[in-house]
Amino acid sequence: MTQRDVLVVGAGPVGAQVARLLAARGHDVLMVEEHARVGQPVQCAGLFTPAIFDLVDFPEREVHLNDIRGAHVRSPTGQLIALDAGKIMAHAINRGGFDQACVRRAELAGAEVWTSAKALRFDRHERGVRGTIHRSGREQAEVDARLVVGADGAASTVGQAFGLPRAKEVVSCYGAQMRGMTDLTLDRVEMFVGRKGYPGFFGWIVPQGEGHGMVELGVHMSPRPAKQHFADMLQDKVVAPFTHAAESLYEVAAVIPFGPKAKTTAERVMLVGDAAAQAKPTSGGGVYTGMKCAAHLVEVADEALQADDVGDARLAAYHERWTADVGKELRIGARLRKAFMHLRDDEMEALFGVLSKPECIALIQQLGDIDHPSKLAARLLREEPALLRYTAPAVARSIFGQG
Ligand SMILES: Cc1cc2nc3c(=O)[nH]c(=O)nc-3n(C[C@H](O)[C@H](O)[C@H](O)COP(=O)(O)OP(=O)(O)OC[C@H]3O[C@@H](n4cnc5c(N)ncnc54)[C@H](O)[C@@H]3O)c2cc1C
Repeated sequence: MTQRDVLVVGAGPVGAQVARLLAARGHDVLMVEEHARVGQPVQCAGLFTPAIFDLVDFPEREVHLNDIRGAHVRSPTGQLIALDAGKIMAHAINRGGFDQACVRRAELAGAEVWTSAKALRFDRHERGVRGTIHRSGREQAEVDARLVVGADGAASTVGQAFGLPRAKEVVSCYGAQMRGMTDLTLDRVEMFVGRKGYPGFFGWIVPQGEGHGMVELGVHMSPRPAKQHFADMLQDKVVAPFTHAAESLYEVAAVIPFGPKAKTTAERVMLVGDAAAQAKPTSGGGVYTGMKCAAHLVEVADEALQADDVGDARLAAYHERWTADVGKELRIGARLRKAFMHLRDDEMEALFGVLSKPECIALIQQLGDIDHPSKLAARLLREEPALLRYTAPAVARSIFGQG
């Protein structure tokens, strides 16, 4: 039996951020991770905006692979929108190394980390929550904690155990890290759209260095598994010029949950990161938003632990603070994604025609911000009413559920 102030379930980047910041405030923190090695398997493209490195306490050069200054967005027939922001918009990073660096910092701040330790069950009692942890090769452990933080990703065991809502939507992803790719522009992300190839989301290549990169896609509510879509993607005439001679180093199969969830706290329980469905619906990026929300969680948890009041009424302040911070962006993002996923391929081609106009390209290059896409979307719709002609039918289909 172990007693702690806080049990953090899941040593992903967001759990590690919570563990570091709470340990730094003097709380006794245990973080458990079901995998033997933090950061493995990698289930990410590793495309991070520079803002993420304002939130962690190590420099971006520790995990840096490549700088990204723009994107090539390709329609189903291969129409190209070429974007160049003229500055660094994002970094391709070593995601496994990033998670390890976050967890190392949490340990340095005083948090204890158990790997190969899977949280199985939680039981409330009058003084806290007892977590039952399966530790491979060791005896099962019981951990008594005053507060449990569910940073345990999309399928959150913590969220399920305490009856918190599931994500509203889940995008299934498949992909691979590949080497031997050709024709890549090192500082451009390649993006592929089209309802047949990438229903409900899109495909992408994030270059990580000469010939190297993450080739991935997401699909939503497709009758075919994401893996099959990925096999087709590699054969597609728009993608094959990059991948025809490439080989796969390892494969990625994971989901991205989208919300926002209506509730992310319960008595002695808080959810954060993918467990709280805090990823951006337009890009699927979840590390920046998850880490921003982690800061709100830590503020509220610290006050609650000090006041010895970890009831839901007090913890709910966290839900209010994180939704006030990133909730609006997530809600607008969800609407944009909904309109986008209901576009037919012929409408998508027409949309490319409009967006290729020099004034639209200039706006995208000026206002494009992966972390805050709503500003650009609002300006584009205002300045280019023709866009409404293509998005309005898709919005109507999304509302009335046709197609
Ligand atoms: C294909 C793909 C590409 C992506 N690309 C990007 C990108 O380029 N940029 C970006 O910002 N985001 C990206 N994302 C999203 C991003 O990976 C997630 O938003 C992010 O990992 C969320 O961090 P987290 O710490 O909340 O959860 P996770 O990283 O999922 O970590 C949760 C941890 O909890 C552990 N765990 C789960 N259950 C238990 C349990 N019962 N007991 C103990 N441990 C448990 C898991 O093993 C895991 O280590 C991508 C996602 C996918 C699927």
